[in-house]
Amino acid sequence: MFRIVLISLYDMGTHGHRCLSSALKHHGFEVHNVYFGDKVIQDVPQTSEKELLSFDHLVQQLRPNLVGLSVTSLFSHPLAANLSSRIKSFSDAPIIFGGPHPTIVPRFCLEEANIDYVCIGEGEESVVELCKGLSSGKKADDIPGIMTKESRSYLQRNPPQVLDRLPFQDIANEHKYLILSDGSVIEGEPALRGTFYNTKCSRGCPFRCSYCSAAYLRSLCESGKFYRKRSVQNVIAELRRYLEMNPNCSAMGFWDDNFPFDLPWVEEFSSQYKRFIHLPFHIWAHPKTINDRLMGALKSAGLKSVISGVESASDRTRKEIFLRPESREDILKADLVLSKYGIEKTYDFITDHPWENQTELKDTFELLTKLKRPFKINMHNLFLFPNTDLARRAIEEGRMTEKEMIENIISNVPS
Ligand code: SF4
Repeated sequence: MFRIVLISLYDMGTHGHRCLSSALKHHGFEVHNVYFGDKVIQDVPQTSEKELLSFDHLVQQLRPNLVGLSVTSLFSHPLAANLSSRIKSFSDAPIIFGGPHPTIVPRFCLEEANIDYVCIGEGEESVVELCKGLSSGKKADDIPGIMTKESRSYLQRNPPQVLDRLPFQDIANEHKYLILSDGSVIEGEPALRGTFYNTKCSRGCPFRCSYCSAAYLRSLCESGKFYRKRSVQNVIAELRRYLEMNPNCSAMGFWDDNFPFDLPWVEEFSSQYKRFIHLPFHIWAHPKTINDRLMGALKSAGLKSVISGVESASDRTRKEIFLRPESREDILKADLVLSKYGIEKTYDFITDHPWENQTELKDTFELLTKLKRPFKINMHNLFLFPNTDLARRAIEEGRMTEKEMIENIISNVPS
């Protein structure tokens, strides 16, 4: 049977990887899932030789016909490139990169890593088609959504439009391997050992922030919708299935780019979640989508915490530089609503970039004094990712070349 090894890098909670695994299994392929590392990449000082040797040994044993690496951002690129070279030294299996990073810079990946294919966008349909082709000896030149090393071009493919038709993410113990930093390998699904379950109710994002790859991914969607939601029944069925497999689960995380915010959907979700799941849960939400009725409904269902992007106190920076629609008043109103319902708050801010002056930066710190305590903050440096609107602007204004952006990000990750 055609055997695929899917690898995620320092991302045990990976949703995209597990969805792809499910889609491939659904079409009869044998899929093995390797979770490289049990931390997040920014917390790993250096990949250990023991981890790498265990990785080589495991992949050799699995004897794949195709290897897929999930590369979520440029931060993971050096490790993904290193692992690809190692695989090529002992295996003839073709290698494909998938995820947001290769989608944004596919040619860079094909030039800088020893790989054969890049999957552009959501991979369920493209990678299944690729595997069907490879397993019957066909070439992959004209599969929409797949760029090959030879062609360096690809045909567009819209993302799946009806999410309820896709199988649930792959949560099963069979053919799962977690490689730890001491080189040991734990067999079984990591998501079944913890007490926290991650999933998504939607794909895509309705907003278009200039620094975010979501806006670029939207531009790849030629027709059809970029922002898509699952039905409430479909989400609840997935959660119930998980609870049957792991009764120790004590909380859920919905890591949609933004949790769905249309009131009928949220009210139905809240009522079903309260009835069948009834566990604390955590979401990301844009300040524009935080209002009294939505948060009241979600709180009654168990909403415990919200992470929300404030990014800057300056209306000019948010509107003109970051292309975000919310005003300072929207942020303060959202903050009051979250406090009213006792929902834990974490706010993201972006500092350290050339488009904001000292006064605007001071405004950001002044805004912090206006938000109701308690709250947590995450301060982020602005990394410019190629092909985002802000990266293009930086290039036009002569601030940075694309090469410098890539080097800047790669120099910030462990080798
Ligand atoms: S709201 Fe978040 S996910 Fe959506 S475009 Fe902005 S930064 Fe990206």
